[in-house]
Amino acid sequence: MFWNRRKSFSYVCGCCGRTVTGSPSFSIGLPPFFGHLSDEEVECRVHFDDDLCHVRQTPGTISDDDVFAIRALLEIPIHGVDEPFSWSVWVTQSRQNFCDYVETAGTDQSGTMTFGWLPITLPGYRRTGDGEPVESLACDVQWQKEGLRPVITLHECDHPLFLDQRNGMTWKRAIEIAEPLNRRAHGRD
Ligand SMILES: [Zn+2]
Repeated sequence: MFWNRRKSFSYVCGCCGRTVTGSPSFSIGLPPFFGHLSDEEVECRVHFDDDLCHVRQTPGTISDDDVFAIRALLEIPIHGVDEPFSWSVWVTQSRQNFCDYVETAGTDQSGTMTFGWLPITLPGYRRTGDGEPVESLACDVQWQKEGLRPVITLHECDHPLFLDQRNGMTWKRAIEIAEPLNRRAHGRD
């Protein structure tokens, strides 16, 4: 069924003319849950690594009201392309689910789906400015087999990120979002 064959994503970078191949994949490095805290507060209230983040309400205690978050994968289909546009993001979990996630790490977690909030700091989707509260979207978080990060499905709403995940994005829009991010990597920004 060659007429169904999909393409690999590629484009020619506007900054340097090199051809960038493969569907875009970017990562939100710093967890976006404590930008409002001072360095001193971060020091005594925040702990994070590549996969887990915990922001305490009060230093030295654990509370259900703390922010518990895990790293997960958000995939946006690109029309006519085999691989999705993929974001590695931070999503909140309840205290109980966070603890379960930590305790069952390294095992098959694929039977578990949890609720989470996804803070929208993604380039191309953020609708709030620096210093304004970050929007968060409700989502399902499908845990995966050993060694794989959980995968996010956004709940229906009118946010462009939900619409792109449900409807897919055009090749052109994928380039619009990816090019400025790659430009940085190309050392031209
Ligand atoms: Zn470039």
